[in-house]
Amino acid sequence: MLVTFTDRRGGVSQGAYSSLNLGDHVGDASADVLHNRQIIEALHGPVQFMSQVHGDRIAVIEATSKQAPTADALITGISGITLAVMVADFIPLILTSHEAVAAVHVGRRGLLNQVALKTVEVMREMGASEISATLGPAICGSCYEVTADIYREVITQYPLADSRTSSGSFALDLPKALTADLQSVGISVKSVQSRCTIEDSDLFSYRRDGVTGRQAGLVRL
Ligand SMILES: [Zn+2]
Repeated sequence: MLVTFTDRRGGVSQGAYSSLNLGDHVGDASADVLHNRQIIEALHGPVQFMSQVHGDRIAVIEATSKQAPTADALITGISGITLAVMVADFIPLILTSHEAVAAVHVGRRGLLNQVALKTVEVMREMGASEISATLGPAICGSCYEVTADIYREVITQYPLADSRTSSGSFALDLPKALTADLQSVGISVKSVQSRCTIEDSDLFSYRRDGVTGRQAGLVRL
């Protein structure tokens, strides 16, 4: 079993994408992204990426393909396949069990459309009994400032996401709300990484930098 999270370090990309950018959709040189993905594959074997759209589609992977499925969650029950979720502020959620593993992209919309809980359901249909969760580095509740409208939309469904920035403006704590969601369906949350993408310069942050790369959460059965 592998569960790990990449950050900016150890790749070949330049400038705003420096250096281990794994995103092939963010304006970086394709040759550099390919090189970076090869660095990851040399360490962890064949990696399946996905084309993430803030939806709730789940793809069950039986063989890796260069064609990234359009999905916000990947599940596999096959050992040796590494699944990747790419992020630059939102939560890279890794779900593990003896029977299947999953990599899930949970942003604000993903929290509301419950992609994580839907992924848990599919894993259970695949025979997963005891599922554990690890939340990777994401924007924290003090940094994720939102408009009053967005704040109200999320808080109506997820009161636990309530947060404020240091200056007192509306903010959302997505990791806290997701953790509660997972615990409510019997998932043990093993680890919530405290590194904040905005505050830690070793992490890519779209909110902080606009033009930037993507780090990844990786899992292999
Ligand atoms: Zn923060």
